[in-house]
Amino acid sequence: MNTWQDKEEFKSEFTKKAHILWEKDLPDLTPNEVYQTVAFMVRDLVSEDWIRTNETYAEEKAKQVYYFSIEFLLGRLLDSNLIGLGMEDVCRAGLKDLGWDLDRIIPEERDPGLGNGGLGRLAACFIDSLAALQLPGHGCSIRYQYGLFNQRIIDDQQVELPDSWLADGFPWEVKKVDKAVNVRFGGNAYMRPSEDGGLECVYEKYSSVRAVPYDVPIVGYHNHTVNTLRLWRAEYSREDMYRELSLGDRHRAFHYKNSVQLISRFLYPEDSTEEGRKLRLMQEYFMVSAGLQSIVRYYKKKIKESLYKFDQYIAIHINDTHPALVIPELMRILMDEEGLSWDAAWNVTVRTVAYTNHTILPEAMERWSIPMFKSLLPRIYLIVEELNRRWLAEVRKRFPGDEDKARDVAVLWDGQVHMAHLAVLGSHSVNGVAEIHSQILKDSTLHQFYTCFPSRFSNKTNGVSHRRWLIQSNPQLAGLLDDTIGPDWRLEAKRLIDVEKFSKDPAFLERLAQVKQTRKYILADYIQQKYEVKVDPASIFDIQIKRIHLYKRQLLNILHVLHLYYVLKANPRMQITPRTFLFGGKAAAGYGEAKQTIKLINVVARLVNNDRRIRKQMRVLFLENYNVSLGQLLFPAADVSEQISTAGKEASGTGNMKFMMNGAITLGTMDGANVEIHREVGDDNCVIFGLRANEVMDYYIHGGYSSWNMYSEDADIRQIMNSLVDGSLGNGESFGMLYDSLLDRNDEFFVLKDFKPYCQAQQEIERRYNKRLQWLHSSAVNIAHSGYFSSDRTIRQYASGIWHLKPVKS
Ligand SMILES: *Cc1c(COP(=O)(O)O)cnc(C)c1O
Repeated sequence: MNTWQDKEEFKSEFTKKAHILWEKDLPDLTPNEVYQTVAFMVRDLVSEDWIRTNETYAEEKAKQVYYFSIEFLLGRLLDSNLIGLGMEDVCRAGLKDLGWDLDRIIPEERDPGLGNGGLGRLAACFIDSLAALQLPGHGCSIRYQYGLFNQRIIDDQQVELPDSWLADGFPWEVKKVDKAVNVRFGGNAYMRPSEDGGLECVYEKYSSVRAVPYDVPIVGYHNHTVNTLRLWRAEYSREDMYRELSLGDRHRAFHYKNSVQLISRFLYPEDSTEEGRKLRLMQEYFMVSAGLQSIVRYYKKKIKESLYKFDQYIAIHINDTHPALVIPELMRILMDEEGLSWDAAWNVTVRTVAYTNHTILPEAMERWSIPMFKSLLPRIYLIVEELNRRWLAEVRKRFPGDEDKARDVAVLWDGQVHMAHLAVLGSHSVNGVAEIHSQILKDSTLHQFYTCFPSRFSNKTNGVSHRRWLIQSNPQLAGLLDDTIGPDWRLEAKRLIDVEKFSKDPAFLERLAQVKQTRKYILADYIQQKYEVKVDPASIFDIQIKRIHLYKRQLLNILHVLHLYYVLKANPRMQITPRTFLFGGKAAAGYGEAKQTIKLINVVARLVNNDRRIRKQMRVLFLENYNVSLGQLLFPAADVSEQISTAGKEASGTGNMKFMMNGAITLGTMDGANVEIHREVGDDNCVIFGLRANEVMDYYIHGGYSSWNMYSEDADIRQIMNSLVDGSLGNGESFGMLYDSLLDRNDEFFVLKDFKPYCQAQQEIERRYNKRLQWLHSSAVNIAHSGYFSSDRTIRQYASGIWHLKPVKS
């Protein structure tokens, strides 16, 4: 069975399932038990298609891609799977007859805590698009027992609580004990002459970790394709445990057991200590080795072709450098286990692997100390050493005496393993994630590599799943679009362009305004329920939600809010269009400035919201624990999308696309995909301000910017800066770390430089908002042009330009 014929069938299946699972009468079920019952029913529906999809791929020997990512920020799966199967209405009707409201059951599912932010969410959108386009592609990652953390705000400050998202079970996973593999760490590796006169590797005295896969079905959209997200969990091997015990050393045995279990316990373990960093490297190799071993085993069992043809059937994609060890690990398997020569293994590896770069922030470039790397992964280190030796010999031959060049492309340098360089060297394709970002990679970050391998480089502008971010999160807008342009856009997001024809149609614009109003009421209700705060749905909803980071400049936003507060205080008769400023996002636990930014937002919020007169004109709120589900509530309710990173710093951004798809107007810098949003909609339909990337670059290279000058020359800037440290924000609060970063450290992210242009851009937003029909027109134009930012477009580009995959009908 892979559908419920009607609500009657749903109800009878539900009754059976609930009885088996809970041994209770229906009226006694808790909402969470109802959720789990429906989730298991959906999994039953999926299983036939899941098996058949896998059989078809194997029979047709279709080329398949494996997308390796240290994060997959999936969001809830019940709703998306019901929509994918086309079963949402039947389920809703059936539950209603039984006395439950599907919309109250859905929130019972906890967000799987398998990611941090944009990079992990991109991976989730990509596997969603792969399945929707019937492309053979699967995800590969780690089954973290604890997600990042749950964020609470206590006394204005972020508090991190453990995210034990698996505590009530995860109905979507299937443990595959028979598919477990062993991953080896530590010990000694060395080369010795082999019988055939060559060299062979001896790897001894290692310890083994059992990697057990948990598979999650990735359901296509109305098409019977079900791909797989394979998540690996580390378990101790009983053999090793007993061996230690039999040596009479209980302490060592338990140490072994605990250290193994730590590997898949936390997403992003603390990386400020030596121990934490080592654990992260273990995670990376664990995921890579387990994933590759299972792919090669599958290849030998089902594809049964020569390993020299591996790349004709298998593509491996690495999402940033965290999985870059696929390169030496595939070399290891091909040479040590399958007997290929170095050159043959290298050819296969490079033709198989492709790499996406996600950052140009130098502090985020992944590097590992050689001593740690070598002791943890001795065999992998030998391979990295050899590929680095061969590569530098080639470079020095081609560019004699150019040691700067050698340094810029070396995998091993200054006692470190440079993961981005490993990734570029071992891949046939390197891409950035927005046009401006890909250009910066070629011009500066990876310039020397670009001169060596110009044809490897390309751009693949990010996208988001319009199924999750429009169909699922904004059914009101989806319904209006169906009524206006028909439902084709659901299968082909480019068809959203048909909305443009209606973008001056007053009747359509009126309905669009109603949809936005409805979504603002839904958000206002949530805020009322959770925070007992009233926000006015008639005010402008101005939203900045993303990880808290200096380069993303939440600071610029909140300093403008503070400035606006001072202006209103100084001019009691002044009227502005009422605004609700909403913030959300997690700060890394060890990131002082980011945590202080959250505190500043909360302190300013209290100042503003407690002022009886001011709060009629503006409200400020920090929403706790931004995650995918909260995003689904926020994007549809936004009027203004804050995308204000320092130009040249945000690789692409994807939040900007989710806002656009839901009809918000972008207020942004010329950074990441904002550049392409601006090109799509034009100056009239977004508001751009601030320094351009080349201007920022010029300041970095040639100097010429002094934030102290901004401070001494501008009274408004002086006022807000002084208030950070003079206690005037209430309770004598002081924000010395932020003050120092803006003044003593010369404002690395140009917050003060862009402050006045930002204030003017905010005034422009207000002016436009008050021309109601024109604003609604802009909103419609944004929706119409958001089709380009569907991850379906992105994935088609990867499939044809990098992976060479074709759709397979299941
Ligand atoms: C889309 C998304 C992000 C990325 O947002 P940016 O604005 O592109 O940084 C981060 N977290 C969640 C939960 C998201 O849904």
